[in-house]
Amino acid sequence: MSQYDLVVIGGGSAGLVVAGGAAQLGARVALVEKKALGGDCLYTGCIPSKSLIRSARFAADIRRANAFGFAPTSLEFKDGAFAAIADRVARVIETVGEHDKPERFEDWGVDVIFSAPRFVSPKELELTDHEGVKRTIEAKRYCISTGSRPAIPPIEGLKEAGFITNEEVFGLRKLPESLIVLGGGPIGLELGQSFARFGSEVTIVEMDIGGRTFQRECVVSVKSITLLKGA
Ligand SMILES: Cc1cc2nc3c(=O)[nH]c(=O)nc-3n(C[C@H](O)[C@H](O)[C@H](O)COP(=O)(O)OP(=O)(O)OC[C@H]3O[C@@H](n4cnc5c(N)ncnc54)[C@H](O)[C@@H]3O)c2cc1C
Repeated sequence: MSQYDLVVIGGGSAGLVVAGGAAQLGARVALVEKKALGGDCLYTGCIPSKSLIRSARFAADIRRANAFGFAPTSLEFKDGAFAAIADRVARVIETVGEHDKPERFEDWGVDVIFSAPRFVSPKELELTDHEGVKRTIEAKRYCISTGSRPAIPPIEGLKEAGFITNEEVFGLRKLPESLIVLGGGPIGLELGQSFARFGSEVTIVEMDIGGRTFQRECVVSVKSITLLKGA
């Protein structure tokens, strides 16, 4: 049975830092991931959102060409499609994802294992590979860094109305004409602002309009509903 000082479960931002750091300090480390290294930040969080924001800011700047000393310039999506923006987001994910490749961590001495694990005792973890073959590893310490999922609020009719979360939004290939963003925290605001800059009619709904981010960032606020229009 393989024995480790540390087994990290979950290869998102947290798990990658812990596994890479511990291995470089000399610990014998395994990193167990059920899907792909990179987690939320790489695929459905920081990286796609910042890429989307970059395109949105570009659109906003172009609209203000005059203010920067250029002749007013028209702004249209290539072939009328929003898909080119989604393609760029995917390219950025691919480029940044190079830093989260298993080889990088293996070079530091981390055993990267793709498996959905199961504890069979306080110290033992059972791993099943893609062919269904099982083996058990043991560690002195475990770090659970399996991340989070979007919380779906208990709003009547929401399920029937249909909705998307951060897990789907960066894959949209058609610009929504209108978008209601539930939640005016940093993520809701940055998404709302970006889509407004692309031309969607965006309504941000927030329970706590006294919240810090909301107060600082909002352009127009009307009681519990905020409408961001354009840049
Ligand atoms: C739209 C958006 C924008 C964001 N922007 C920013 C930003 O600009 N800056 C910032 O700092 N943060 C940002 N965040 C937050 C950031 O993405 C998260 O804080 C970060 O990804 C959390 O990392 P994590 O490692 O804890 O979890 P995750 O990234 O969720 O990683 C968990 C990993 O564990 C794996 N896993 C889950 N269950 C198991 C299991 N049973 N066995 C094995 N593996 C498992 C998953 O497959 C995943 O790879 C943003 C988030 C969103 C949604």
